[in-house]
Amino acid sequence: MTIDTTFQIPEVEISPKAQAFLDKSKKCLIDGKWVDSASGKGFSVFNPANGSIIDMAPAGDKEDIDAAVNAARKVFDDPSHSWNTMTPSERGKLIWKIGDLILDNADELAEIESIDNGKPMAVAKVADVPLSADLFHYMAGWATKIEGNTIPISVPYAPGAKFHAFTTREPVGVIGQIIPWNFPLLMAAWKLGPALATGNCVVLKPAEQTPITALRLGEILQEAGVPDGVVNIVTGMGETAGAALAAHDEVDKVAFTGSTEVGKMIVQAAAGNLKKVTLELGGKSPNIIFKDTANLEQTIAGAASAIFFNHGQCCCAGSRLYVEKDIYGEVVDGIADAAKQIKLGPGLANDTEMGPLVSDEQLCRVTDYMNAGQEAGATCVTGGSRLGEQGYFVSPTLFKDASEDMSIVREEIFGPVVVASPFEDVEEIIERSNDSTYGLAAGIWTKDIAKAHRTAARLRAGTVWINCYNIFDSALPFGGYKQSGWGREMGHEVLDLYTETKAVCIGL
Ligand code: ADP
Repeated sequence: MTIDTTFQIPEVEISPKAQAFLDKSKKCLIDGKWVDSASGKGFSVFNPANGSIIDMAPAGDKEDIDAAVNAARKVFDDPSHSWNTMTPSERGKLIWKIGDLILDNADELAEIESIDNGKPMAVAKVADVPLSADLFHYMAGWATKIEGNTIPISVPYAPGAKFHAFTTREPVGVIGQIIPWNFPLLMAAWKLGPALATGNCVVLKPAEQTPITALRLGEILQEAGVPDGVVNIVTGMGETAGAALAAHDEVDKVAFTGSTEVGKMIVQAAAGNLKKVTLELGGKSPNIIFKDTANLEQTIAGAASAIFFNHGQCCCAGSRLYVEKDIYGEVVDGIADAAKQIKLGPGLANDTEMGPLVSDEQLCRVTDYMNAGQEAGATCVTGGSRLGEQGYFVSPTLFKDASEDMSIVREEIFGPVVVASPFEDVEEIIERSNDSTYGLAAGIWTKDIAKAHRTAARLRAGTVWINCYNIFDSALPFGGYKQSGWGREMGHEVLDLYTETKAVCIGL
């Protein structure tokens, strides 16, 4: 692996408030109580900017998951419990309050997120934290709007009989939620918001790389008045705590965000009691620039951000950049310039635009792909190396001259690595874009609105951004075709996946 040893990391200071939270002994939240793991064991949490240990979290395992599931089950199965007798309006107000409290603690949450995950604090402040608050505010409104239908029925074998039939939407039950490390707080919000709006009980397992903000969120949920046992949080490893949750017989649904590889294991684990499964998995998203794009400068900036935002650690990252032949050279030069100008540093430094990758493991994974691309014969236009020997920094990287069968074109890298290729016509690029096991997102840049619509309709992807990229909103459903997942997050679509429909038929 190439290492640029000239890269230096400036000293940064942690605020007293964030330090106070880091210094607090971390525990799991089970049945409203903060408890150590049953084994008493913990695991280290690392600062990706320098590899130092910033915290310890409880290493929850099967026993802790059992206790958390039992707590959730006890609440869910008790019709007289305050969670189940609460009116939808009261539940909505409670969820709204969670959003408010996130905003009240925005600076602290952004700072902890930055220290734990490595992302620039400035980005966490304008994106992760406000989006998390907005998700709870959006879902708060839905609590009073979970409605069924009245259904006129005919019943051909009962001539003349009269019936009144209707549907109700009921919570699924106890939900196991397993989340990743790329947007730790936001992924917790995406999962908890709809589960609570529809009246479910939850056991949440944060990623072992980034467990800290979920635990702070646990305190916020308590402050907002979420009753004990409704949301339980167990930190721990995927293979132990995560696997126990996915397989648990008393869990009615598992909602998972992470790699496609682990998503397949979740499906297998869920088969025991046929629990419902929703999955938000990987991607290798095509980002298509036509030569008639409205503003080339803005398009280049948009395409650079499509891959480099969050250090490429986005399942929807625009990692396959397809550019119409006539402007290919100009776009490649523009993306390379943009990549070179990105200021890398620790998340807490004010001028940092890109932080380190999240972990040593990701550093190895991403640099292995960089090496594989070069060994396979692709041209590395810029980047391609580790930066410094401390922390997990890599340079924003652009490849060209890659063939479609290379691993850097086919596989999800989950780092700031983009491969640019030219194309000549629309049919060709639709086919190449769809030639992937994934189908999470895609981008199109053109001012020909008819072509944009025609192309969007043919792309097998859950989200298509036209003349923009990485636009997320609580109201806009997000999820994947093909091996990018099952179901959708956000919007009203997600509510269907957190409710069961009950048909009630009354003979009159
Ligand atoms: P990545 O490879 O990017 O770390 P993963 O898919 O491994 O992403 O992890 C996403 C989440 O899935 C994390 O919370 C992790 O702990 C969890 N996880 C990993 N392996 C398993 C497993 N076998 N069963 C259940 N959860 C798992």
